[in-house]
Amino acid sequence: MQNLKKKKIEAHETKPKGNNEDSQLEEFFLNALEDIYWAEKHLIKAIPKMIKATTTEELRKVFEEHLEVTKEQATKLETVFELIGEKAQAKKCKAMEGLTKEAESIIEETNEGSLTRDVGLIMAAQKVEHYEIATYGTLVRLATAIGRQDAADIFATILDEEKEADMTLTGVAENNINLEATHEAKV
Ligand code: FE
Ligand code: FE
Ligand code: ZN
Ligand code: FE
Repeated sequence: MQNLKKKKIEAHETKPKGNNEDSQLEEFFLNALEDIYWAEKHLIKAIPKMIKATTTEELRKVFEEHLEVTKEQATKLETVFELIGEKAQAKKCKAMEGLTKEAESIIEETNEGSLTRDVGLIMAAQKVEHYEIATYGTLVRLATAIGRQDAADIFATILDEEKEADMTLTGVAENNINLEATHEAKV
């Protein structure tokens, strides 16, 4: 925080007024990139736990596929770091940490082999996807604003992948799991 403040003042002193806001925005952009990079890397560790916990093969396949997509997304973000001439660095995303903790709680609170477990896992996964959709949507606009169309294009690709994952999860829930889970007895 101290550093940030100092940098802000320096920018104000050395740059003309018009550029001052640009430098703050660029710094904000880099922070947001480091945050989502941490989130994607964290998901690479968290999704396997969700895969293991699934009841239906249908949901397991969706998670397995998104794990591979997520690994590629982390690589795509490394490309963005390269493009802007920064070292790929991860900064803890408290939101994603919380969302994956919630997924773990859901696993603990539901019975192994139950469809209710899958309903819970879908909810947890969709919360993750929605967080990512919000983040990448902003990153597309941010990258465009600071004149990095090359980065904006990569974020737009990832944004589409997250939206697709979200829709696929809705499909799985609507297809059968939610309906069948309503017949499931309490244990
Ligand atoms: Fe992702
Ligand atoms: Fe974040
Ligand atoms: Zn965060
Ligand atoms: Fe995702």
